[in-house]
This record gives sequence, structure tokens and C-alpha cells, in this order.
Amino acid sequence: MNYQDDIPLAKRVKSIKTITIKSFLRIGLLSIALGISLTYLATKSVLRQTKFLNNENNLIEETKDLSLLGHLPYPEASIDELILYSPGIYVHKDIYENLKEMQFRAAQKGISLQLLSGYRSINLQKDIFYENKSIRNQTAVERSMVSAPPGYSEHSTGYAIDVGDGDFPNTHFEVEFEQTPAFKWMKKFATKYHFVLSFPPNNKQGVTYEPWHWRFEGTVNALRKFEAANKITKFK
Ligand SMILES: [Zn+2]
Repeated sequence: MNYQDDIPLAKRVKSIKTITIKSFLRIGLLSIALGISLTYLATKSVLRQTKFLNNENNLIEETKDLSLLGHLPYPEASIDELILYSPGIYVHKDIYENLKEMQFRAAQKGISLQLLSGYRSINLQKDIFYENKSIRNQTAVERSMVSAPPGYSEHSTGYAIDVGDGDFPNTHFEVEFEQTPAFKWMKKFATKYHFVLSFPPNNKQGVTYEPWHWRFEGTVNALRKFEAANKITKFK
């Protein structure tokens, strides 16, 4: 039923006109409101993004400030956190099972994944850093490219390990280790056991490539220790 049939033509025209003007006004107001809302949201998003980027930049700057010759400070693991893994080599007890499992799985593929070093006390790192420096006649800056200054080694946390290929001992602590079956296996499977390469080629920390040096990131505690290092890697 058409209800407008009961309204006289003149009135009908007027009412249509009024409706049209009202509609235009309503659409106009809605558009303005929508425009304001969108502008507000866009501005807010840009501000938020700027704030986020600023925060990240501050974090990177703070992280860089902490580092000494590219290396970051690490606390020494306490005695009760350590466990003897193999003759003369202690590691953080949190990595024990993963390390055992990783070596076992590699051995099943005929690979001799050898643990060369684990936990190092700050004192031992002191000996390594200064002893090698005098032997190789390098300056502290040159030495820091290949070894962390005492107090700045991932090894003092007990979460870092140096590995080698037992079948290719001449590649121990050498870049050539990357050509061994042990390294190739690690590259493929180490993350499964929560081990990551600390100093890949051209790393953002500026430390020389160390294919033998891996750190464990499989617990919240471990991850917290390497948070600063991961920030540099991700955002720099
Ligand atoms: Zn190492």
C-alpha cells in the first residue's frame, strides 16, 4: 500500500524535498564525523609508531652503551647452577639434557659432535684474553674481535658452548669448522635443541664470525641473559 496517496500533491512534493535536504545534511554531518575520526585514528597510530620506534632506538642505544668492544656484559653462573658435563667441562644445568640429546642424535647420523668448552669463569676468561693478547701481539681492540674481555663472555653464563667435529680436530676454533659435517648438522638441527649461533657472519655486534660458538636460549632465564644481544641483532 502506498501511504502517500492520501497526501495532496503539493504537500507530497514539499515533504520529499524536506526529506532530501535532511538526508543531505545527515550524510554531510556523517562524512565530517567520519573524516574527523579517521584523521584522529591515523594521527594516533603515527604517534604510537613514532613512540615505539623511539623506544626501540633508546633500547638499542642503551644496549650499545653497555657493550665493551662489541661484547656485552654477562654475569657469572653460580656454582649450584653448574654441572660437570664431560672431563673438565662444566655447563649450566639447564642445557645438560638438550646437549646430551643433541650429541646423541648427531651420533646416530655418524657425526662426532664434540664439546670443546662450556662454562668459563671470569678469571679464566681474564687469562685467555690477556694471555692470547700477549702471545699474538695484538691490541685489546684486535683481540676483542676474536675473544671477549673478562666479564663480557657468554661463556660465563654457562649457557654458551664451543663445539667441534671430532673427526676433523684441525678445524677446532677455526672458520673451516663450517665445512665439517658437525657444523652442517648443527646449522640444520641446533634450533630444535634451542641452540643458536651467537656470532654469525657479519653479525651486528661486530664480533668475528665464530661457527663453533653457540648459546642456549631454551629457558626464560637463558633468554633473559641474551635479551640485549638479541635486541642488537634484531633492530640495529
Ligand atoms: Zn665460545
